Amino acid sequence: MTEVYDVIVIGGGPAGYVAAIRAAQLGLKTACVEKWINKQDKPALGGTCLNVGCIPSKALLESTELYETARHNFFDLGINVGEVSLDVPKMIGRKDKVVTELTGGIEMLFKQNGIDWLQGTGQVLADKQVKVTDHKGKDTIHDTENVIIATGSVPIELSATPLEGNIVVDSAGALDWQAVPSSVCVIGAGVIGLELGSVWRRMGSEVVLLEAQDAFLPMVDKAIAKEAQRTFAKQGLDIKLSTRVMGSTVKDGKVVVRFQDAKGEHEQTFDKLIVAVGRRAFTDNICASEVNVQQDERGLFHVNEHCETNVPGIYAIGDVVRGPMLAHKGSEEGVMVAERIAGENSSMNYDVMPNVIYTHPEVAWVGKTEEQLKSEGVDYQVGSFPFAASGRAKAKGDTTGMVKIIRDKSNDRLVGAHLIGPSASELLAQSVLAMEFDATIEDIAHTIHAHPTLSEAVHEAALSADGRAIHIGNRKKRA
Ligand code: FAD
Ligand code: AMP
Repeated sequence: MTEVYDVIVIGGGPAGYVAAIRAAQLGLKTACVEKWINKQDKPALGGTCLNVGCIPSKALLESTELYETARHNFFDLGINVGEVSLDVPKMIGRKDKVVTELTGGIEMLFKQNGIDWLQGTGQVLADKQVKVTDHKGKDTIHDTENVIIATGSVPIELSATPLEGNIVVDSAGALDWQAVPSSVCVIGAGVIGLELGSVWRRMGSEVVLLEAQDAFLPMVDKAIAKEAQRTFAKQGLDIKLSTRVMGSTVKDGKVVVRFQDAKGEHEQTFDKLIVAVGRRAFTDNICASEVNVQQDERGLFHVNEHCETNVPGIYAIGDVVRGPMLAHKGSEEGVMVAERIAGENSSMNYDVMPNVIYTHPEVAWVGKTEEQLKSEGVDYQVGSFPFAASGRAKAKGDTTGMVKIIRDKSNDRLVGAHLIGPSASELLAQSVLAMEFDATIEDIAHTIHAHPTLSEAVHEAALSADGRAIHIGNRKKRA
């Protein structure tokens, strides 16, 4: 007789594999179904994030940032390195090695936690069963008390700009070019488009981003988005807003892109085209037709705040449910669901969700923007501090950007932190923790920050929200 699992997780990305590990830690008999076949033609865990998302993009952002620093900033720091050159295949190879090591690490964690990896494609059947079709097409049926659906998302494709070889690619394809194209067009100036555009611009490509919306990064605090747009333009990213791509044609190894803006229709030829117009939940055929899990018109599974679907014992987490498509959001949902299945009363605070764009400077934020607070009628106060006034940023020679802190005047609580600048992704964590602990600006003001650190800029911004920053002129007026 086959054993009955307590939990079968379908999908081994950051939502699914974390759910599986937490469930196993809590003593639940756990399996995870994952179908991914990697570049080396081997089954792999880790999902989009580890294989073609967060991690490989950050590996290339790191390499190319160092390349740019070596070329343009070393001299200012008193370092002469002669001619700096690129070895693109080696850079891509290093990225692949990082990916292989990390995905192998998840496999090891599965073994250590006694989790069964069921390799193949999973489908939820009625009566607490999951069908797994392996890579040779053989089906097996597994019994389980609970199912967690974590099948993630895939890039949205545009029918007018079909993917073609390594010329018209999605985000995954743009992580694998073996030589630097002289020109790259990116459709979509969202988070992924900006990160990939930055990678290839730093390597030497002319990069044009075509964005249909008229606002740049509309989800970002306006002042920060404005600073980002100005800085990226200065770096050479050509960002065209209010510009809709109408189609593309591959011709003689290049791609002709047709787009429309206020002045009319245009055509431009590029070496490569990256389609980065967002992602869609991957939920096709995940549940057999007799399993009536409710989905919305975009395919997202309907869940409550605890990620329970309308069918008892079936949960959904990560990119297949509402909320931002972020790895850490899915992972925390995975932890919550595993703990609830194990009988704990876990919940999640969706209001304190860190967001990062890993360009240089990095853009990072948590909580409400000034615009949101204004529309909600909240009486707030803003404090800000430029990195140009930070001793550590000056010493690093990296002073672009600022920290903006927003406090609710009624209770002095921190309600938003918005950063653009060096290491903003890491600096954000102090505000995330402060918000999670319901800290007041007074609490942050009393917290001693090491000198000289970039984190002092966050401290100073908080002080400035109370009119008492030390290293900028903002004397508080006496009432
Ligand atoms: P996924 O990671 O998509 O994993 C789902 C898994 O389910 C896949 O492995 C898939 O093979 C598997 N699967 C699907 N259907 C089945 C089935 N029927 N049977 C078995 N297995 C199945 N997010 C961040 O937070 N930070 C970043 O810096 C960041 N950078 C990104 C950069 C890029 C280029 C991209 C594309 C994305 C990035 N993201 C980032 C988004 C992040 O990757 C996703 O939000 C995250 O991977 C979602 O996790 P998930 O577990 O829900 O889904
Ligand atoms: P994100 O959702 O952050 O990945 O960003 C994707 C971006 O692509 C969004 O800002 C969309 O407005 C943009 N976009 C979608 N379709 C098109 C199109 N046909 N032309 C230009 N931009 C587009």
